[in-house]
Amino acid sequence: MTEVSQTSTDLAVESAKQDDPEKLPKKRRKIANLKMVGSYAIKYPKQIAFAFIALVIAALATLSIPAGFKAIVDNGFIQGEGDIAPYFEALLVIALVLGLATALRFYFVSWLGERVVADIRAAVQRNLLRLSPAFFEENRPAEIASRMTADTAIIEQIVGTTVSVALRNLFVGIGGVIYLFSLAPKLTGALLLGIPLILGPVIILGRYLQNASRKSQDRVADVGTITSETLGAMKIVQAFGQERREGERFSDAVEATFSQAKRRIFLRSGLTALFIVLIFGGIVMLVWQGAEAVRAGTISGGSILAIVITSGLVAGSFGALSEVYADLVRGAGASSRLAELLAEEPDIAPPENPIALPAARGQLTFDNVTFRYPTRPEVEALKQFSLRVTPGETVAVVGPSGAGKSTLFQLAQRFYDPESGAIRVDGVPLTQADPAEIRMRMAYVPQETVLFAASARDNLRYGNWLADDDQIWAAARQANAERFLLDLPEGLDTYLGEGGARLSGGQRQRIAIARAVLRDSPILLLDEATSALDAESERLVQDALDKLMVDRTTIVIAHRLATVRSAQRIIVMDEGRIVEEGTHNALVGANGLYAKLASLQFDA
Ligand code: ATP
Repeated sequence: MTEVSQTSTDLAVESAKQDDPEKLPKKRRKIANLKMVGSYAIKYPKQIAFAFIALVIAALATLSIPAGFKAIVDNGFIQGEGDIAPYFEALLVIALVLGLATALRFYFVSWLGERVVADIRAAVQRNLLRLSPAFFEENRPAEIASRMTADTAIIEQIVGTTVSVALRNLFVGIGGVIYLFSLAPKLTGALLLGIPLILGPVIILGRYLQNASRKSQDRVADVGTITSETLGAMKIVQAFGQERREGERFSDAVEATFSQAKRRIFLRSGLTALFIVLIFGGIVMLVWQGAEAVRAGTISGGSILAIVITSGLVAGSFGALSEVYADLVRGAGASSRLAELLAEEPDIAPPENPIALPAARGQLTFDNVTFRYPTRPEVEALKQFSLRVTPGETVAVVGPSGAGKSTLFQLAQRFYDPESGAIRVDGVPLTQADPAEIRMRMAYVPQETVLFAASARDNLRYGNWLADDDQIWAAARQANAERFLLDLPEGLDTYLGEGGARLSGGQRQRIAIARAVLRDSPILLLDEATSALDAESERLVQDALDKLMVDRTTIVIAHRLATVRSAQRIIVMDEGRIVEEGTHNALVGANGLYAKLASLQFDA
């Protein structure tokens, strides 16, 4: 339990920046977190009102049951005269009202839970889409995905169950105590003193159980992680003959889960025993006291029955409330983790008054740019890097692995901001324009094409969602992708499989090129694929690229000599700087780094 609230307060500290929770006392912080959920729920006042009314009616109906039985026993059984039918009819009506009100409460409250979770999920996803890549490097996507599913499920439980359970039990509990007092003040006084005695141990043990359950959940999560990791890398596991070790690692995790589960089961069994003994023991004591009172003539038999039923209801209500508290703590944790995602601001945001870009020419300049990745602050990925690419020009970038070539593209698309220096598109510094507008001026063809588990059409028009089929086919033709697309079983409607698994490497690249054609932007950022393509496939890809580059400013990270040879200008990068620049022939003649790289490639 302590651990549970510890975690949630820790998380609470980091969340809801606008409230500056650091300054709030612990309790207020927790409430502040659930406030986030409340702010989503409050948008549906009608449903809340219906649920509340239904809840009050159900609570009243519940409380009137013991009164009904009291009347039956006192007036029907004991005195043995008069008509008992009205009492039973009244009880039947109560049953009907209770059933209806409970159903309505369940409907509206569950509806609210689902609605709030849907809204929160959508809001979180909307915010995630704004965030810059640095955020996803620091926060594991799997972890974020789990927040989206697991944490929202907890919220759903809070809104859709816990809160109404809490209110219902509060009403029944308090209403029950008041009714008990009206029946037998002295006995109720004694009962109230007894409640903490009964509930105390139950609550304490319950907290241990909660803690054990949480640890048990964690162990189950470990098993899940290992399973998906191993299954996802099965070829590697088998290729390196690590099956036994993986098997053992998995067994260990499974055994740890079992041990933890054993502890939980043990506590749960103990709790059940304790609960039954205390509750039934309590009721027996109560009836005993009551029976003495009946014999002494101070109380009626019906009252005793009503007291027993009501005290059962009251005990049940308080018992349920203790669980509600634990749920609320869990909910506060979940809510604060989601609030964190909602409050996260993108590092890269449009300036308040973005400068509109001038008519597109396709000029791209880097001025004295120095940059380190936020996750690797010790390495300067670019050092005082300057480059001017004029409209329509093709610049090939070569250099050893880690030289900073891909970093140029990351910065050009403003996924990160440089530490110093400026990058400009058509004369406008990136930081002063809307990133979306900047990115519209560029088409990026990555080394590894990213395809979505969707149709060929949707994958192609990722470049321009408004493109019609004619435009898509025209782009496919230009990208040398028409032939294989025509051969697909259902044409553009063909589902390409997870990550486009149903296409070959060369075909995937041509889809990426077709996307860039559809995007039709003046600047082209081309990261040539290094994956080995057969000669025919490579020719098709190269030809498609050549057509794409016509009349566009192109920076190409070149891995193939074909591109490098024909480039008007080659820049050679090493350790974040330009170390050489020129044409292929000039650079070979200079006998520097380029000549070395070229001779390596030629020899290969
Ligand atoms: P390659 O040809 O192997 O793709 P590259 O020349 O494109 O290499 P970059 O990817 O630009 O090299 O990397 C430049 C430096 O920045 C390297 O030291 C690399 O380790 C580091 N780096 C690249 N991406 C990241 C990242 N997302 N987070 C942290 N460091 C990074």
